[in-house]
Amino acid sequence: MSKTIEYAMETQAHLQACPVCKSLPRRWAVKKYVNATYTIDRCSECGYAFVNPRPSMNDLKAHYSHFGHGASLNTPSLESVIAAEADDPNSTIDAMRMIENIGYLMQDRHKMSWRLLDVGSGYGFFSKEAVTAKFRVVAIDLAENARNISSSISGIDPIPATFEDLELDHASMSVILMSQVLEHALDVEAWVAKAWQLLEPDGILAIALPNFGSLQCIILRENEPYICPPDHLNFFTPRALTELLIINGFVVEKVQHISRVPKSTIQRRVPRIAAPLVLAIVNTTLRIVDFMRFGSIINVYARKVSV
Ligand SMILES: [Zn+2]
Repeated sequence: MSKTIEYAMETQAHLQACPVCKSLPRRWAVKKYVNATYTIDRCSECGYAFVNPRPSMNDLKAHYSHFGHGASLNTPSLESVIAAEADDPNSTIDAMRMIENIGYLMQDRHKMSWRLLDVGSGYGFFSKEAVTAKFRVVAIDLAENARNISSSISGIDPIPATFEDLELDHASMSVILMSQVLEHALDVEAWVAKAWQLLEPDGILAIALPNFGSLQCIILRENEPYICPPDHLNFFTPRALTELLIINGFVVEKVQHISRVPKSTIQRRVPRIAAPLVLAIVNTTLRIVDFMRFGSIINVYARKVSV
């Protein structure tokens, strides 16, 4: 069984060293969000930035059990989630791209034995694509409403567990998918180390998260929308994430930048007749930003190096 990871359940821990490379972190920003103030430190060596002090594990469990990923006071219905996705199919596009890339990296391994763990499965769009691609899927999510919606969308019943508490056999997974979840984790080093344990030799860890080195982050600094503690506690550049993966026994196979402005955002802000042209201009600009490797989201695919 996987190792048990110890966390500060009650108290907030103040980190004196960078969790990735152990160098000295320096104050990067102070961010006021909702009714609290958070300090964000940045490692002077690898560039990883993180909320410091960290919240306690009990704080996080209470937060996600209530609100789920994205911390909203609204409790969406299955119908509203399906309608929103039909209007702007962002999750489906992201899921299809990531599952296709994962399939390519799986190469010639026997398809019937492919097992994928979807960590923080949300509404189940990634699990759905993985099932379609013939993966045997295990999903986990803390939020009850998200689990119920995910079951309907993907046909998979997620386990109500944190990644920290999840008990699976070592080397039992071919792929671990962490889409928009690692930025929420209390201990990123422990998460990547546990992923290594759960993966079979040459298994794939696929991670999607906001890019701390994005153009909008460089311009807006702590006012960038993804800098949103206590939801997001960790802020990675591709370099910092690559360093974390290498230290924990992975080799990075592929890094992809993805920037997108929802179609609905443009349609709300410009006259209907101009919307297609504005959308085309915005999309072209974003492709250039992605090509320059300043995209707002990064997808990183890493392979477990066997020892
Ligand atoms: Zn560092």
